[in-house]
Amino acid sequence: SVRTRFAPSPTGYLHVGGARTALFNWLYARRFGGTLVLRVEDTDDKRNTAEAVQAIYDGMTWLGLDWDEGPDKGGNYGPYRQSERNAIYEKYLAILEQGGYLYEDEGAIRFRSPRKSVLVEDLVCGRIEFDMSNPATHPDMTIRRPDGSWIFHFVNVVDDIEMKISHVIRGEDHLSNTPKHVELYKALGFEPPKFAHIPLILNHEGKKLSKRDGGSSVQYFIENGYAPEAVINYLCLLGWSPKDNREVISIEEVSQIFELENINRRNAIFDLDKCFWLNGQYIQNMPIERFAELSLPFIEKAGVNYGTKEALLPALAIVKPKVKHLSDVPDWIGFLFTEDFAFDPASVEKSLRKEGALERLKQLGEAFSTVTEWTHPNIEAKLKELAASLGVKVGELVHPARVAVSGRSVGPGLYEMMEVLGKDRVLSRFARAAT
Ligand code: GLU
Repeated sequence: SVRTRFAPSPTGYLHVGGARTALFNWLYARRFGGTLVLRVEDTDDKRNTAEAVQAIYDGMTWLGLDWDEGPDKGGNYGPYRQSERNAIYEKYLAILEQGGYLYEDEGAIRFRSPRKSVLVEDLVCGRIEFDMSNPATHPDMTIRRPDGSWIFHFVNVVDDIEMKISHVIRGEDHLSNTPKHVELYKALGFEPPKFAHIPLILNHEGKKLSKRDGGSSVQYFIENGYAPEAVINYLCLLGWSPKDNREVISIEEVSQIFELENINRRNAIFDLDKCFWLNGQYIQNMPIERFAELSLPFIEKAGVNYGTKEALLPALAIVKPKVKHLSDVPDWIGFLFTEDFAFDPASVEKSLRKEGALERLKQLGEAFSTVTEWTHPNIEAKLKELAASLGVKVGELVHPARVAVSGRSVGPGLYEMMEVLGKDRVLSRFARAAT
């Protein structure tokens, strides 16, 4: 059966590259009814592991990537933190010892390479033969440091054996480690799993995406108002694409068609603009309830006093077509829930201070006071009727009205926002603007 794993070293945040590795392992497991294991590789640095592991859980959970076995979930092959697996490593070390593979070098334990060439049949990179004969280019690897701590290669292999991992899907930066790993499998008497090394993610300068690049961690997308479905869609396209090259494609659909063979062998270029574009696509097309769910944390954080959910939904419905980042929602809807909204000086100058603007606003207020059923079409009809009878362009009424009720010249459709505001508040804002 298919068993994949995501094996991050906790660094304190979930890097986009790590998230993409987690995603491809998740997709492969889901595609073939397999199991995804989350294993924490914390042998190097046990400090602050709790928070660093939490960042991984949070990032994966936000992206919608669930795992079947892991430190928090349990499973038959635990513990799932390397720092708790010492006894297992000792056992495997003894096997290598018995096989005559180990020697000591100044207190460190090293593995004596058999110095045979190693063939790796990688599901993405193809068939690669590694010539291991030269100790200068392939020195014997260290297994254990003098202080007793373990080196990545050994514990990684032991865990993949013990956790019965069938497919190792990981970043191409580990391809050069793979012949070492294969040597360990052979020495321990196990068949290596299938390997799939996925292309690196580069920035626009062609360098490996690093912490300094904008959008390089999942946290960036959480904080900047991205929809998880947009980000996960974007991550799918980092090195993989559907046969028809569609760009907007849901993870559910990808999980039904995903194949390792379709992974692009070229390095992927990280394109924040494309992710931003996808985010807009998802926001525009998502149901209003989902939009509300995703916006709510930002609305709460900004302290918008929206009252009830019933009052919030119509407000969200009218701003949704404008929103590019969910984090902008509080700014878009703020004026609908307080009289204490800011007036943009340039908009005031341009629309309200214009010759005759206040007079027209007063006339519009009077006309509006006769509207009995306060709906978008009625408001619009009344405004146009007045414009016609005054012989002015519709804009001569629309612009001052917009600034009077919202404080600025950009925003949702004027008639819709006046409907949501209600007649009383519109009239009182008109009156206030006229003074
Ligand atoms: N802990 C390793 C890393 O974060 C895992 C490598 C692997 O997936 O085998 O890069």
